[in-house]
Formats: sequence, structure tokens, C-alpha cells
Amino acid sequence: MTYRLHRPEALRALTEAMVTKAGWTADEARETASHLVLANLSGHDSHGVGMLPLYFNSLADGNLSPRSKLSIRLEAGSFLIADGNVALGQPTARNAVERGIALANAGGVAIVNLLDAHHIGRIGHYAEIAAEAGLISLFWVNVAGRPPIVAPHAAKEARFGTNPHAIGIPVPEGEPIILDFATSRMAHGKARVALNKGVTVPEGYIIDGEGKPTVEPKHVFPHAIPGEPLGALLPFGDHKGAGLSLIAELLSAGLMGAARIDEKPHKSWIINSLFGVLIDPARLEPNAALRRQRIESYLAFVRAAAPQDPADPVLAPGDKERATRIQRERDGIPLDDETWSQIVAAAARHGVDAESF
Ligand code: NAD
Repeated sequence: MTYRLHRPEALRALTEAMVTKAGWTADEARETASHLVLANLSGHDSHGVGMLPLYFNSLADGNLSPRSKLSIRLEAGSFLIADGNVALGQPTARNAVERGIALANAGGVAIVNLLDAHHIGRIGHYAEIAAEAGLISLFWVNVAGRPPIVAPHAAKEARFGTNPHAIGIPVPEGEPIILDFATSRMAHGKARVALNKGVTVPEGYIIDGEGKPTVEPKHVFPHAIPGEPLGALLPFGDHKGAGLSLIAELLSAGLMGAARIDEKPHKSWIINSLFGVLIDPARLEPNAALRRQRIESYLAFVRAAAPQDPADPVLAPGDKERATRIQRERDGIPLDDETWSQIVAAAARHGVDAESF
């Protein structure tokens, strides 16, 4: 597997050019570019610019449209209920979360339910936006418009999406705690990155179409095993991750009748619905200095735990992404050749020469 290092600003400029040429506004393109490149900078290549070919395939198939926009069903009191209308996910979800932030600033708490947006990316991104606004946030997200890909605990076939869950806690004048993960042991996008790189995945993450353990990522991609039954990703934490995935599906989409994983996909797209709770911590403890001291003293206690391996220090949620951002801002973002060639082809369809960035 070979890869090249790319400057973050070049990938941002390329993404903006691709998204505007394809028909979205400059603001929508800027937000999509900054979201995707920040995912790469954070080490989550599964949710970075490598998603562009998939978005552009949806566009080429006529399933994703620059004309689709967020529409509001209800924005009153503590509630924002919004239809995503399968609009480009990153700017759409940011718009919904920012409206929720305004409600939480006014009333202390807000419930945000965004229904049926196109793929909204890295969910921690929205926890970071809320934390920057000084708010605690909790998010549950489902993944529809695709066949199920995660097996329930003890099952040998899939019934869930990778249904991510994120929680953010701001630290006054400090770095926030950002816990953000797929409820599968491995994000589907990380299996795609492994497939593109031609490498195996660790044991215990995937079962094949017969329900047997495998380290071959191809078993969770129908196009990579034509004619063979699809395998599944396993949930993290056995019955616990599987239970959280089920809750995410029902909270984000199931209660409100948005697209669900058990509906047969009829288009090539990924649909996310998001359920979020935003809380102003000043309504709990008004003294910001006290809040900071309480959180930081506890984080210091946790980080001071003796590591099993000194090369693998004890971290708090969010630490790893912050460290990776510093390293990749300095050294560049690695993209494997297969991912890059898919981006080059998607850009060329809209008259953009990716190699010139
Ligand atoms: P992951 O397994 O890398 O876990 C990330 C979380 O664990 C972060 O909060 C991180 O700070 C923390 N962490 C990582 N290493 C740690 C360590 N050594 N000690 C303490 N904490 C540590 O994440 P994932 O499950 O692969 O998910 C990747 C991304 O994919 C997430 O951003 C998620 O939101 C996104 N995702 C999106 C969708 C979608 O449909 N939009 C679906 C699934 C996942």
C-alpha cells in the first residue's frame, strides 16, 4: 500500500472547488470542506475527504441534490425538529445544531431532532461545536439508506447500522471532553479504508456471511464479494454496544418515522437522523471556575493511572484527536492511492483537476 501526504489547506481548497462546481453554495462547500478535513486531521480518515467519491456517486445517480435544504417543522421552547430532506449532511447538521444551541442558550436546555439528512460525517464535530458554545451535548445517530451492516449481540447476520454516539463536556477556558464512537467495534468507513489499503482488520471485528470470524474487510462490502452473502461488523462491548445501537435507531429516527435501517434501500445514499440534547452547564453549576477545577482534578486523577504499557499513555476522550491534529497539521494528511484516485475521478467529473491543488 502506498500513500501520499497532503497539506490540509490543499484538501480544503480541493473539496470547496468540487462541492461548489457540483452546485452547492460557497458556504455549504466551506463547511463541508472544513468538516471533512478536520476529520482527517483528527485521525478519522473514514469520515474525511475519502467520503467525497461516495457523495459524488449519490449526486451522479441523482439521489443527492444541491437544491435540497433543511426545513423546520418546529422551533419553539426547548424543541427543534427539522427535516434534513437528504440535503448535504455537514452544513445541514451544523445548521440544526446551531439552532439548537440558540434554544439552549435561551432556555438552558434543547432537544434537537434532525430527520433524514444525507451523511452528516463525524458526530464529535457537533459535540465540539456545542462545547465551543459552552454547552454539554449528547447525540445519538442512526444510519439508513444502506443494508444493515452490524450484527446484534449473538446474531450471525446484521440488523443495525454503525449508529454512532457522541457526548461533549466543555471545560471553561480548557479543552473539551469529546467522546465519539460508532456502536460497531469498528466504523464501516475504517473497514473501507482497510479495503482500499489492501490490509486486514484486527481479529474480533468482523464476521463473514456464514457468521464465522474473519479479518478480511471485503466481507462487509457487497461490491467486493459479488454473489456471496454479506458478512457483518460486530457491536462494541457485546450486548452493551448492541443495546446502544438499538436505542440510537429508535431515538434518532424510529420515533418520528424517519428512514430506518429495516427499510429496503432503493437509492445509493447514506441517510442519518440525529437526536441531540444540549444543556447549559451554568444552569447546573453557575461558577465556571469551580466547574473547571472539578472537571480538571478528576481528569488529572484518571490520566495519572499507571499505564500497562508506557508507550500507550492513559488518555481522556478527545486527547487522541487533539494530538493527531497537531501531528497532521505539521506533517500532512496521508491518503492511500486508491482513495486519492477515487477523489481524482470524482473531481474530474466536474471539471476539477485534483492534482493541481
Ligand atoms: P474510535 O474507536 O476511534 O473511538 C473514538 C473515541 O474514543 C474518541 O472519543 C476518542 O477520543 C476516544 N479514544 C480513542 N483512543 C482512546 C484511548 N487510547 N484512550 C481513551 N480514549 C480514546 O471511533 P470509531 O468508532 O471508529 O468512530 C469514528 C468516527 O466515525 C466517529 O467520529 C463517529 O462519529 C463516526 N461515525 C459516523 C457515522 C455516520 O453515519 N455519520 C457512523 C459511524 C461512525
